[in-house]
Amino acid sequence: MTKPVPKIPIFGIPFSKMSMQETVEHVTERIESNIQTHVITANPIMVMTALEKPQYKEMMFKADLIVPDGAGILWAAKQGGNPIEERVTGIELIHELMAKGEKHHWKVYLLGTSQEVIESAANMLQLQYPQVRVVGYRNGYFTAEHDAEVVAEIAELQPHLLFVARGAETQEPWIVKYRKQLGVPLIMGVGGSFDVISGQLKRAPKWMQKSKLEWLFRLLQEPKRLPRMMVIPKFMIKVMRNRDNVTK
Ligand code: UDP
Repeated sequence: MTKPVPKIPIFGIPFSKMSMQETVEHVTERIESNIQTHVITANPIMVMTALEKPQYKEMMFKADLIVPDGAGILWAAKQGGNPIEERVTGIELIHELMAKGEKHHWKVYLLGTSQEVIESAANMLQLQYPQVRVVGYRNGYFTAEHDAEVVAEIAELQPHLLFVARGAETQEPWIVKYRKQLGVPLIMGVGGSFDVISGQLKRAPKWMQKSKLEWLFRLLQEPKRLPRMMVIPKFMIKVMRNRDNVTK
């Protein structure tokens, strides 16, 4: 059995308090014991979606591990007087798990984004982590009609890791729906990570990440993100108004 995960609720969503290293150890132990884990790397937008849509909240509760991806989550935890040590971002977790995968000779399947981006991300990861076998990849632009075919292809290849990049609104419910049939030990939604790994988009420079300005960098690169980011000020106001209850 793996150790219980220290958690902190943010408006009722149970976030892990583990550091990146602890998270990697925890997940590795579960993969090696063949215990399935669905990891959600969550940000304030996802928390707000959960608060507005009960179905999304229910879906989040079905995940095995919710890690604090957005800087806003750390800020909220601090405001609530129950700080979280560090961000555990999807993109860093991909690299950490690929590095672990080299030791354990894991297999990985990549799902999502455009065909061009996923192909290039697969090549990059295969080059960087030669001991991990990229057993397959597929773009994320398919409809529910093709779900059965996609799930069957992945299940047959029996990867240890499955990274899914189809946007938070789509990827997490899709994982929850098919995790059993997929049977993959580690399944994680990774949003825009393949766009960065393939070189299509850039990750914010370290100083911006440290200054909690990664959201601004992403917005400047992808102005289409603006509408969905409008909930961030709402989240901040909610935290400020409910300081005593954010982490209760
Ligand atoms: N994406 C996809 N299929 C879809 C919608 C989105 O594969 O039906 C991909 C998109 O190309 C991008 C990634 O999912 O690489 C993340 O999308 P976005 O930034 O819109 O989502 P977020 O994670 O910010 O919700």
